Amino acid sequence: MVARREKVILVAGGAGFVGSHLCKKFLGQGHKVTCVDNFLTGDISNVRALLDDPNFQLLRHDICDPHKWPGPIDEIYNMACAASPSRYQSDPIHTAKTCFQGTLNLLDLAEEKNARILQSSTSEVYGDPEVSLQSEDYLGNVNICGPRACYDEGKRISETLMWEYGTHRGVETRIARIFNTYGPYMHPEDGRVVSNFVVQALQGDDITIYGTGQQTRSFCFISDLVEGLTRLMASGEKMPVNLGNPVEFTMLELAEQVIAKTGSRGSKLAYQPLPQDDPQQRRPDITRAKMILDWAPRVSLSDGLDMTVSWYRDRLIADRDAAAIAGQ
Ligand code: NAD
Ligand code: UDP
Repeated sequence: MVARREKVILVAGGAGFVGSHLCKKFLGQGHKVTCVDNFLTGDISNVRALLDDPNFQLLRHDICDPHKWPGPIDEIYNMACAASPSRYQSDPIHTAKTCFQGTLNLLDLAEEKNARILQSSTSEVYGDPEVSLQSEDYLGNVNICGPRACYDEGKRISETLMWEYGTHRGVETRIARIFNTYGPYMHPEDGRVVSNFVVQALQGDDITIYGTGQQTRSFCFISDLVEGLTRLMASGEKMPVNLGNPVEFTMLELAEQVIAKTGSRGSKLAYQPLPQDDPQQRRPDITRAKMILDWAPRVSLSDGLDMTVSWYRDRLIADRDAAAIAGQ
């Protein structure tokens, strides 16, 4: 029997920011891709260019709902879940359900099809960490009954489900703990900090700093994350692996860089209240990713912002032109 070389890959959340990059990468490698998305935060423009590709299939579907999937599936990337705090908090029950019921449905599918499955978990499983450099064995500091809990606790139970199916049902599970990732194809109105700052600066609007702006994040460029995710899927590692860029910035430092990169003249800093439970620091320890996947991020924040600003500049012009035509 001749082994199949091209794979059938299901990308849940494939019309979102990270998922759409995965769909494009896999199609470019000659694989067949089924993109499943309920379009909660996904954008058809992220995958429109793929619709004519005979290897691409788009299915509007909520992973919380049951579905019969015909044919073989080799790999499942579960990227389905709103990731922006404002978006996942707008329907917290659905967010929690997506993480639990949605992941459970995809795990059952992986078991049925004998497929590998990778879950997009998050640095949010560490909550508001009490330690700098969060390694995978840090158990976290999560508020169970707060506005972020639907996502943080949702992702924690999704990891537990993955681990149980991996341990007791023999499913080939992979868990990526993704730290803040940015880049082209994140929706301009997503609400996360990089897209907010870049869009505000390009439009000459004030830059919204929540709290003092001294809280930190570590920003990973999308191409680095995609490389890490695919390496993790190809590995034999069932325990969680941090994927992120360990270089840490305050939000004020990020704002300065964005203003400089966009050449924004009109934008000033506008301080707004810090949202409840907003983590004060976040920085991945990527020792395991280096060791197991031979992976480390390559793109600096400066280079990543150049590519990101350029994409948003074009996107805002395209959106403005489309609005002008629609208004005619
Ligand atoms: P995104 O909001 O751009 O993409 C999420 C996609 O999932 C969207 O297309 C949305 O419509 C879809 N979706 C949401 N709920 C669904 C459901 N129930 N059924 C089907 N589709 C659904 O976010 P993203 O940044 O691309 O994040 C992708 C995944 O990575 C998420 O699971 C997120 O938790 C995780 N993650 C991302 C980051 C990051 O910085 N980008 C960090 C940590 C974790
Ligand atoms: N933030 C900000 N201004 C914004 C959006 C976010 O200062 O317009 C801050 C937010 O309070 C947090 C950090 O930027 O401290 C990262 O927020 P984001 O929503 O991108 O992701 P999080 O890491 O909090 O999930």
